[in-house]
Amino acid sequence: MDVASFNRQLQDLQDRAVASIAAADSPAALEAIESAMLGRKGELKGLLGGIGQLPAEDRPKVGALANPVRTAIEQALAERRVGLEADALDARLRAEAEDVTLPGRPRWRGSLHPLRETEREIARVFGQFGFVVVDSPEVESDELNFEALNIPADHPSRDLWDTIYVREPVGRESDERLLLRTHTSPGQIRAMRGSEPPIRVLTPGRCYRYEAVDASHGFEFFQIEGLMVDEGTTLAHLRGLLDAFAHALFGADRATRFRPGYYPFTEPSVAFDIGCVVCEGEGCPACKRSGWMTILGAGMVHPVVLRNGGIDPERYQGFAFGMGTDRIAMLRYAITDIRAFLADDMRFLERL
Ligand SMILES: [Zn+2]
Repeated sequence: MDVASFNRQLQDLQDRAVASIAAADSPAALEAIESAMLGRKGELKGLLGGIGQLPAEDRPKVGALANPVRTAIEQALAERRVGLEADALDARLRAEAEDVTLPGRPRWRGSLHPLRETEREIARVFGQFGFVVVDSPEVESDELNFEALNIPADHPSRDLWDTIYVREPVGRESDERLLLRTHTSPGQIRAMRGSEPPIRVLTPGRCYRYEAVDASHGFEFFQIEGLMVDEGTTLAHLRGLLDAFAHALFGADRATRFRPGYYPFTEPSVAFDIGCVVCEGEGCPACKRSGWMTILGAGMVHPVVLRNGGIDPERYQGFAFGMGTDRIAMLRYAITDIRAFLADDMRFLERL
């Protein structure tokens, strides 16, 4: 053995180590190579164990040759470890990746309640004729809910409007009997007292009555009323307006008619009918075989009511109409139970 022979063996050891490190496919394989080449019982140690056969002056030369070999192998091991870690990370990222090319989940969108949607549609139609929506309170005075509308305390029609009283007067001057309004009509008095003719307003909102609840009656329900006050207002204007309304909501060919009706606050009073939306006038259970459905009540505003609203009935005339928003919505959406509107059943709301 001489220095040149040690050098060849060292180079051969380095080449084999580097080749097997490059081929290693796991950290465990690298551990094994490191141990076999550089370990206490490894090849490099074994090779250098033969250094004693050399002359003493040659031994440091072999040591100097061996050091770069060890360094080269250690460097190859370190680089391969980093490479394997990067490969492992790549593989994991690929395995856990979100496929962003998949279609997203549709976002759940809310929609208008059928009552609100119907109220807006009614307001839109009358809005084309200059009617504007005004708010009025749900808790009303007895005076505005009844007295001012020509329904005095002893009037028999009060039985129709039995309601929930919020406050009874206890004798003080300022005391008023307060109640939950039984119709949106007090809004008409408020509109007349709060402005000058010409007046064209809609008063939509929630009303309350002491009522046995069934499929077509609720103790809590919705109305929308209209009021027009101007000089020369006639029943013919009312008829034309309601025809336009019926045609907008229920089709341009929809038959309409006036029938005599009765309300304390209008004179004359009419019921406004449309051709049955179920049987188209043939006669069916929904229209009690008449072919007609009443959708609202109307009439010329009673002179007493005009006067109570601060309007001079000698100069101005007015008409008013009122309908159940629930009833109109039921006809539009073919809903058979009024209780569904306030039942908070999402299946009902999503189906519409
Ligand atoms: Zn019918």
